[in-house]
Amino acid sequence: MLIVKKFGGSSVADKECIFRVAERCAEDYKNGHDVIVVLSAMGDTTDDLIAKAKEINLNPSKREMDMLLTTGEQISVSLMAMAFHKLGIPAVSLNAFQVKMHSTSTYGNARFKKVESERILHELGYRKIVIVTGFQGVNKYEDYATMGRGGSDTTAVAIAAALGADACEIYTDVDGVYTADPRIVPSARKLKEISYDEMQELASMGANVLHNRSVEMAKKYGVQLVVRSSMNREEGTVVKEVVKVEKLLISGVASDKNTARISVIGIEDKPGTAFKIFNTLAKKNINVDIILQSVGRDGTKDISFTVAEDDLQDTLAILEENKEALTIQEINSQESVAKISIVGAGMMSNPGVAAKMFEALTNARVNIHMISTSEVRITVLINESDVERAINAVHERFGLGE
Ligand code: ASP
Ligand code: MG
Repeated sequence: MLIVKKFGGSSVADKECIFRVAERCAEDYKNGHDVIVVLSAMGDTTDDLIAKAKEINLNPSKREMDMLLTTGEQISVSLMAMAFHKLGIPAVSLNAFQVKMHSTSTYGNARFKKVESERILHELGYRKIVIVTGFQGVNKYEDYATMGRGGSDTTAVAIAAALGADACEIYTDVDGVYTADPRIVPSARKLKEISYDEMQELASMGANVLHNRSVEMAKKYGVQLVVRSSMNREEGTVVKEVVKVEKLLISGVASDKNTARISVIGIEDKPGTAFKIFNTLAKKNINVDIILQSVGRDGTKDISFTVAEDDLQDTLAILEENKEALTIQEINSQESVAKISIVGAGMMSNPGVAAKMFEALTNARVNIHMISTSEVRITVLINESDVERAINAVHERFGLGE
């Protein structure tokens, strides 16, 4: 079997962790399997590097940021190779240039385009464990471009897809995907299985288990994932296409505090105004999430939408700059908001799921600012201070607990 095993930063935080990971991978190797290990940077290395950059320049060049951040993964893979050598196992570390992991150009937020398999296969041919830097791609300028925070998961899936691996295991500091964050909801339960679609919705809604794009890519290439802990031997959660329909209507509740609301008031109520506003933001790479437009009155209307908290100041600046062209009379914003989402393939065929969620929120006296839905998700925007109460109420109402 060809197995891809990815370990997150906390799993390789220090010497003991590195040897624990090496020994675990060695078991598969000794059982005759081919093993590819994908690693994140050790512990808080990436955060520390970002802080270092800010000491020098508050607005660092994105290219140089990626040059800096990719060093984190290079440290962990080389140390891991040394650990294998110490255990008497042949191993080699490779970075994105050596593997040839081609990506799009956007520094700090690149996507994989094509991953070449030749070098990895060559090394596996010598019965070596191959350790690959997560997070990195190489763009058309032959520069490093990183995949966005948490992007090492996507590296693992891209490699598993390119090499047709038999298993892709994502090891992290939680032992699987839960019905809710156990730190917020004590009765949360670990799921045995979850579908790609549900997982993708959870990932994009801030359930910090898997990088959003890793799930998107796993679905596209049919790579079955297992999420499990590097600290214990528990089975973990399988992410795959068809999940036998459990009796559960929904699989989980997630929250995301990294969101802010912006309202543009009094814009002209005629064709093209919404297009102009969102086109202006899109050109500046601002990702807009929930959008709500009011019914027009006196020839004007209002639009509210959410962006990631990090993008709030940039977004406000762009709108302010283009206020006249976009026919905006007034702009206001709120940072202390959060999204709560329920996710479940079961809601496609069952009416009343939204009503049930809103009922739970009403009973918990939680006010809803905005609502958005997909086929398998319902999201509401609420005050940040209501998050804990809201999640617990919804989790309980759908009977998700143990
Ligand atoms: N080291 C990178 C980060 O901290 C990538 C990853 O861990 O997946 O975001
Ligand atoms: Mg992660």
